[in-house]
Amino acid sequence: TKLLDFACSEPPQNLSLWPCNGIILRKNREEGRFSAFPPERGIIVFRLIYPGSFDPPHKGHLDLIARASALADELIVAVLQNGDKAGKLSLETRCKLLKQVCAGYDNVRVRTFRGALADFFSEEKATALLRGLRSADDFGYELPMTVVNRGLKADCETLFLAASPEYSFISSSLVRELLRLQKDVSPYVPECIVPELEDLYQA
Ligand code: ADP
Repeated sequence: TKLLDFACSEPPQNLSLWPCNGIILRKNREEGRFSAFPPERGIIVFRLIYPGSFDPPHKGHLDLIARASALADELIVAVLQNGDKAGKLSLETRCKLLKQVCAGYDNVRVRTFRGALADFFSEEKATALLRGLRSADDFGYELPMTVVNRGLKADCETLFLAASPEYSFISSSLVRELLRLQKDVSPYVPECIVPELEDLYQA
């Protein structure tokens, strides 16, 4: 019940259905995951969308993906075209790297998207967006986006997971800087993509 502890009270012991902020949640007792049933939308899965630039993906992202995939029926990692961020990797490359990183998680899909996140949210019939919080600064950045997304689509809720302490200082910009300096990034980046990432930055 960790993800939703802050949003609803504990269900009675003998019930697996209970209301929470207008959504009926069902706990899958075998897998320990939640499913959401807002009947008017006909959604029968608890589907999270984890959007980001992922330029490049790192261990902090993977930590969130692993934790969210254990909570949700489905997790869509949505790779967005960089707006004002100056990264080196193309959308296709970031998507390819993320697919390698997520290969071990059978309920995780990697998708690219352009345009408004709230539109993508509706197209995918998602239950909520997922974002990570590393610090109070992150929260200050996230809050307006959350409000704006709900302004665009009233049901476009955002759930937050706090970064694990061991990864909370990792950022894509830090990894990019190390790559530019041709320094070892293996403490910060999932092992399976380190060689490819180093090659991309040496090219
Ligand atoms: P943005 O979406 O702003 O372009 P990123 O692609 O780096 O930024 O991050 C995507 C999401 O992952 C954001 O919600 C961000 O807060 C979260 N995130 C980034 N780094 C970490 C980390 N080290 N631990 C947990 N979450 C993180």
